[in-house]
Amino acid sequence: MTTLTSPQTDLIGQLRAICGTANVLTHEDPSADLSPWEQDWRKRVHGRALAVVRPGDTAQVAAVVKACAATGTSIVPQGGNTGLVVGSVPDASGTQIVLSMARMNAVRAIDPANLTITVEAGCVLQNLQAAAENAGFLFPLSLGAEGSCTIGGNLGTNAGGTQVVRYGNTRELCLGLEVVTAQGEVWHGLSGLRKDNTGYDLRNLMIGSEGTLGIITAATLKLYPQPAAQLTAWAAVPSMEAAVQLLGLAHQRLGPGLTGFEVMNQFSLSLVDKHYPQLRVPLWQGTPWCVLLENSDSENEQHARSQFEALLEAAMDSGCVRDAIVAESLSQARGLWHIRESITLAQVQEGLNIKHDISIPVSRIPDFVAETDALLAREVPGVRMVDFGHLGDGNLHYNVQAPEGGDGKAFLRDFEDKVNTLVFDQVKRFGGSISAEHGVGELKAGKLPHYKDPTALAMMRAVKKALDPKNILNPGRVLT
Ligand SMILES: Cc1cc2nc3c(=O)[nH]c(=O)nc-3n(C[C@H](O)[C@H](O)[C@H](O)COP(=O)(O)OP(=O)(O)OC[C@H]3O[C@@H](n4cnc5c(N)ncnc54)[C@H](O)[C@@H]3O)c2cc1C
Repeated sequence: MTTLTSPQTDLIGQLRAICGTANVLTHEDPSADLSPWEQDWRKRVHGRALAVVRPGDTAQVAAVVKACAATGTSIVPQGGNTGLVVGSVPDASGTQIVLSMARMNAVRAIDPANLTITVEAGCVLQNLQAAAENAGFLFPLSLGAEGSCTIGGNLGTNAGGTQVVRYGNTRELCLGLEVVTAQGEVWHGLSGLRKDNTGYDLRNLMIGSEGTLGIITAATLKLYPQPAAQLTAWAAVPSMEAAVQLLGLAHQRLGPGLTGFEVMNQFSLSLVDKHYPQLRVPLWQGTPWCVLLENSDSENEQHARSQFEALLEAAMDSGCVRDAIVAESLSQARGLWHIRESITLAQVQEGLNIKHDISIPVSRIPDFVAETDALLAREVPGVRMVDFGHLGDGNLHYNVQAPEGGDGKAFLRDFEDKVNTLVFDQVKRFGGSISAEHGVGELKAGKLPHYKDPTALAMMRAVKKALDPKNILNPGRVLT
């Protein structure tokens, strides 16, 4: 056990006075297990916190930040701790506090005429979706971690998910924020306005800042009407070029009805078939790629089905689809999505791999994949490519699996840097981004100077310095 300094002991006393003793956990209490807050989701990093602090309202957050600012103690905001880039856990120093937003999970208000919902940052995404649904609306953000991630974390990382092609990223779903600044002041920005041109867009500055510029305590978000019908199709396509052609056709024929467009290569589906044979992956064996499409219709199911069938017929006539099925029921549709969402877990079952979450302009993805696959095969013989993702958004999870039967740990040790450099250099050459949706965190902070425009990076540093001059908010994340 480490001994606390006298200022640290004083600070913990203050934090207990602010949030209540039960809501400030420290290693001094032998019965307290802090590891769920100290360990990242992928178990790559296990830090050590000075304390885990769980405020119950915005005033408490502000008071905690003031106390920390006075002692120069850094703060790591944490929501559901499902982030994939090591951004929500403390470093190993034992000097940082984790600010868990989990207790601030209330739905504050629903405004049906304004089509908005206002929730606290610790509200779990699934609960937010349910609150919207209970009020007769749709909150369209949807991702694999929705049962645990929070809206504060979604905003902190500007999360994407499966419906971006229609509704945009979390940024596009947010109209207002309440934020505690690095000085412990509260910015009351829960406007719910769709138009407000009164200067710099602070909301958009906070969104995607990964807890480095302010602590989001609440948000006003957009609601949408529930679609009258939602249909899902699965298509076998002969090439990535054909998948892009199908995407163009789907935009043309379905318009705003196109709410999902996911692509999966044969190897990624073979992993699902191997590790979860009960899921019965359709149409994957004779084709290099499959596509999952979703059509949300504002009229009725018959309209949605006839639109989908006309699209697939046109696609088959033009040769960009070889074979396709349209789900007959909601449970079949869920089954198809479940296959897509099981790729990540199937990869884990198969062993260690090197993950990339990249975006490239859609038109350039076929050339990117062909060139980069060939480069990797030449430079790292035997690697297996798990290519899948949100093609509708130009976002691929371009993952590199160790050679079959090889030692995964040795593969990572010997090849992770080489593979990352090769892939990221290609992403830059093709005008893409090295982090499409997961953010930068600590994992990629060191990469930004190589892959981000230097002027953009300088402006980011200036913003950070202006808003958090003492560098107490999530230091070492996003910017090094
Ligand atoms: C199975 C799985 C599937 C996933 N699928 C997707 C996907 O499809 N698309 C996608 O974009 N991501 C995906 N993710 C990544 C992750 O779920 C998202 O990044 C999510 O938005 C993180 O939310 P969280 O509440 O868990 O945040 P955390 O992991 O707790 O934090 C993430 C970052 O946000 C900051 N933060 C948290 N709360 C606040 C706050 N209140 N104020 C300011 N900063 C804050 C943290 O400091 C950290 O930097 C997936 C993760 C998993 C495990």
